[in-house]
Amino acid sequence: MESVTQETDLQSIFTEIDNSFDEIVSWRRYLHQHPELSFEETETAKYIADKLEDFGLVVKKNIGGHGLIGILTGAQAGKTIALRADFDALPIEDEKNVPYKSLNPGVMHACGHDGHTTALLATAQTLSKYREKIKGKIIFIFQPAEEQPPGGAKFMIEENVLDGVDYVFAAHLDSKVPIGKASVGAGYKMAAVDKFEVKIQGIGGHGARPQDSVDSIVIGSEIVNSLQKIVSRRIDPLESAVVTIGVFHAGSAFNIIADTAKLEGTVRTFSESVRKQVKEEIYSIVEGITKGFHAHFEIDYLHGYPALYNHLEESALVQNLLSDVFSEENVIDMDASMGAEDFSYFLLEKPGTYFKVGSQNEDQNTQYPHHHPKFDFDERALLNIEKSFVKIVAHYLF
Ligand SMILES: [Zn+2]
Ligand SMILES: [Zn+2]
Repeated sequence: MESVTQETDLQSIFTEIDNSFDEIVSWRRYLHQHPELSFEETETAKYIADKLEDFGLVVKKNIGGHGLIGILTGAQAGKTIALRADFDALPIEDEKNVPYKSLNPGVMHACGHDGHTTALLATAQTLSKYREKIKGKIIFIFQPAEEQPPGGAKFMIEENVLDGVDYVFAAHLDSKVPIGKASVGAGYKMAAVDKFEVKIQGIGGHGARPQDSVDSIVIGSEIVNSLQKIVSRRIDPLESAVVTIGVFHAGSAFNIIADTAKLEGTVRTFSESVRKQVKEEIYSIVEGITKGFHAHFEIDYLHGYPALYNHLEESALVQNLLSDVFSEENVIDMDASMGAEDFSYFLLEKPGTYFKVGSQNEDQNTQYPHHHPKFDFDERALLNIEKSFVKIVAHYLF
């Protein structure tokens, strides 16, 4: 009986959500017109805080920068569910021709974070009306600076936003997937992204007298070639890894042996042990080759976001729950990608999953890839994210 009641309740809540479409579209368009870069989201954070206070939530601000949370405590005790949205924009000039185009030159919500924030605000507004029904607590996490490592997630977690949280979930719009569909999947779905710089210090000299110099270009070339053998010869072939050198700077004239060379590259991996191994192999190769050729080296190794790992149980559960929201054939398997997402930090701390909600329709304007200067989305996706969140919360707390 109880599940029947819950179904009826959810149907009426979903109708209410559909009816709020115009209101939430106006929030999204306001945010879209007022984008702010990572770590500079002062006004956006204020906008979010004002709304959460209007809904009667307990609001905590300035968490690890411009981060904030809204806390909704139900009438009865129970589990604590955290839902997270990001709210930073990108350094891109908005090239769309729409009335809600960005008003901040050179800054644009080109990844859809305005949509994530709107959908989470809408979820908070809807659920705030059902406090009596809720057995437990919901933490609405609004995170700044997703686009710019070291990111906002890490700093919010360091300020204990996940204390007492049982499960954590987040959604991202997906312009590759049609409206009305969602993608879910367990396991590693986004890569760990690290960056490194290698400086090789040789000894410069005349191009005709190699015996008096230490040629940083020849040594750098050996290093570039050898680094390519990490993936093919050192990593378990059943694991994934990429080592790319994108920069090689050296030399000034055809007849001078270059004294220094600088390489820059990126490493993409899924598992933490492979990530660690690739780093160790890079150090070992650079050290071995430079030493062998009487040069010196410096390495600057920067850790970006860890790989995003969707937990098995919660991914299977969300797949089931979303099948009720979207119908079974509309919930598809999420593709893994070598891109990065700092929600990974949350999933290192708590069980949960990160899923995607389709946002394209037949209109070309909704089909541009994320980070494109004309990126836009079918705003009905806002309702779909909200319904997904409400469905997840209802499962645990109603
Ligand atoms: Zn992005
Ligand atoms: Zn994004």
